[in-house]
Amino acid sequence: MKLFKLFVFFLSLNLHISAEFKQHSIIVDARAEKLVSSILERLCRSSKLLFVPKIYFVVDKSINAFATDEAKIFIHTGLIIKFKNVKQLAAVLAHELGHITGGHMHRMNHEMKGATAASVIGTLLGGAAALAGGGMEALIGGAMLGQGAAMGTFASFSRTHEKEADAAGFRMMQEADLSTEGFIETFELFKKMNTFGEIPYLQTHPSDQDRINAIKAYREKTPDHGAIPPEWEQEFQMVQAIFMANLSKPSEVERFYYRKDTPAAKIAKVIICARKGQYDQALTKLNDLIEQSPNNPYLYEMRGQFAFESGNSANAVRDLKKAVSLAPDALSIRLLCAQALFTSSSDNAQEALDQLNRITQDDPDNVMAWLLKVGAHRKLNQAGQADLAQAEAAMRMGDARLAVSRAKRAQKSTNPKVKEQATMLLDDNRLSGKEDD
Ligand SMILES: [Zn+2]
Repeated sequence: MKLFKLFVFFLSLNLHISAEFKQHSIIVDARAEKLVSSILERLCRSSKLLFVPKIYFVVDKSINAFATDEAKIFIHTGLIIKFKNVKQLAAVLAHELGHITGGHMHRMNHEMKGATAASVIGTLLGGAAALAGGGMEALIGGAMLGQGAAMGTFASFSRTHEKEADAAGFRMMQEADLSTEGFIETFELFKKMNTFGEIPYLQTHPSDQDRINAIKAYREKTPDHGAIPPEWEQEFQMVQAIFMANLSKPSEVERFYYRKDTPAAKIAKVIICARKGQYDQALTKLNDLIEQSPNNPYLYEMRGQFAFESGNSANAVRDLKKAVSLAPDALSIRLLCAQALFTSSSDNAQEALDQLNRITQDDPDNVMAWLLKVGAHRKLNQAGQADLAQAEAAMRMGDARLAVSRAKRAQKSTNPKVKEQATMLLDDNRLSGKEDD
């Protein structure tokens, strides 16, 4: 799990894993992303959606998830930590997809006064902008949702929309051959927590007996034939342990996993040891786990991250390369690998760049990758490409003026390919008409 720690690392070599994850920052975790996207892919196959929304995990204790537009779903870490099983997570994802297929976001944009969906995303990306444009101070904050960013506003769909999303989500799950039990369990959990006033969010996101009754009626009319893949449940338990061990108080985590010897408990104990600064113990435990599952990319990723954060870039490179080879599509592991390569030795700048190129190819909006490319190109004395990469990053962070100025500088390059790319970039409608001074 990384809070774009890449940048924190640049700031100080002694910052280790115990660095706090700030409220409302976006965290990146390849394993969690993989699990959630497997569920979404399965649900989307049976829906009208042509693409799978991108997932963002927001550090927040409350149980919440929300879609902001057709392409993004945000999940609070509290939801992962407090849910009992993956059935519940799948039901919430289906519900959010129900809002998307129902076009509720679009309608909501008209209804919402003040904060629009776009402006909240703006705040989010603005955080990323601060990462690049702002000083090191801003980097630590990570991509932040502004304090009190319109979480509540997002939640305020009408009750009609909520019921529509439930119904659509329910159908989606049945068509995907998945058990719908998670709906009832989730609403029961909401009801219980709401009684204790723990989640004010739910006052706007109605969770009442009505919703439970409606789902029960659907289930009677069309009984479930589906189930939930057991491998999802196993992964959920692991992801929950990783989130909890990174984000909750160590004493709470220890209590939760006390005397448990499950794989999830084991991984949680590794992270807790590392958070307490007991690196040798953490490493011994982690090595045992790797011995038991020698093909698990996330274990190598974790060991690589430990090595990286304790300043051993050579070991970090070895483990992260292994992790990349085992999970070639996990771009966040690739990003960490590129950074370890980049930091370990100037000789590795080209190899780092190769990894970064693969990331921006698959995910052109990956601002972090563009920013690291700036550094890698500079190390390789490729000033024109460095300018181009900086222009790409700045454009995505809404700093059109910087983007234009860097692209114009790249246009003067003697490298014809750089010239050409710079000209194409200046034609991008995100930049056209914007002038630098
Ligand atoms: Zn909803």
